[in-house]
Amino acid sequence: MLISAFPDYASAEPATRVDLERVHPASYLDSFENLDATQWIDFDTFVTPTSAEAIKLAVGVTFEAVRRGGFALVRPPGHHASQENAMGFCLVNNIAIATRYAQAELGLQRVAILDWDIHHGNGTEAIFWADPDVFYVSLHAWPYYPGTGGPRAKNAAGEDIPGGESPTTLNIPLPGGTGDRSYLQAFEQIACPAIETFAPDIVLVSIGFDAHRDDPLSPTILTDQAFYQLASRTASLAPRFAAVLEGGYNLSTLPRLVETTVAGFENPS
Ligand SMILES: [Zn+2]
Repeated sequence: MLISAFPDYASAEPATRVDLERVHPASYLDSFENLDATQWIDFDTFVTPTSAEAIKLAVGVTFEAVRRGGFALVRPPGHHASQENAMGFCLVNNIAIATRYAQAELGLQRVAILDWDIHHGNGTEAIFWADPDVFYVSLHAWPYYPGTGGPRAKNAAGEDIPGGESPTTLNIPLPGGTGDRSYLQAFEQIACPAIETFAPDIVLVSIGFDAHRDDPLSPTILTDQAFYQLASRTASLAPRFAAVLEGGYNLSTLPRLVETTVAGFENPS
């Protein structure tokens, strides 16, 4: 991505271990430190000797976005990472750590996480499943990777989660081939009223551009205009909002879609 496309960009300080440990155990974080070679975790997730630094930078930039109401353009993404499990390109959960930061450092107790990556954010869901102060809302294609987030609550092994539903988790599974009209209808009629009823102090958005029709991993066919409308409506859902990049794998369309989304954020509807 060409950062020169965003002349107002700001950089940030890396996060600390204390910040990361608000979500992840020390023993888990230790597994990324002092590596001297690349290690594969699963078929699409690996760590390198620079991953520990990249993680802290990505989280630090996400904090800065939360402070100023910005959009954190970071890698690696985070929403598939649970407290002790990396998967789906994700090592630590950026938006979960940022949620704990917003609560602890900024006094923003009630947080809504809106996830419009086309894949279910199973890690974020798991971290906040039993937390009454954090409302997790996800629109995603189902049944696709990672297989969670269906009409009934299931874990990564496809088993029903004991205890049934979470009152602060809202999954909106969508069929493959979903386009702008159906997607935006679900967003407006299901996601938005639920978030407004929860009345969060801040909305944090997990943005994936892999729902776009030109994305190589997309089972759905959203246009640029859908991202503008999603961003515009999101900007009016709470007194504050910030966003962090999750998926999006077409490097030629990604800068344009980020620009479109930022324009939407700047024009609340
Ligand atoms: Zn994704």
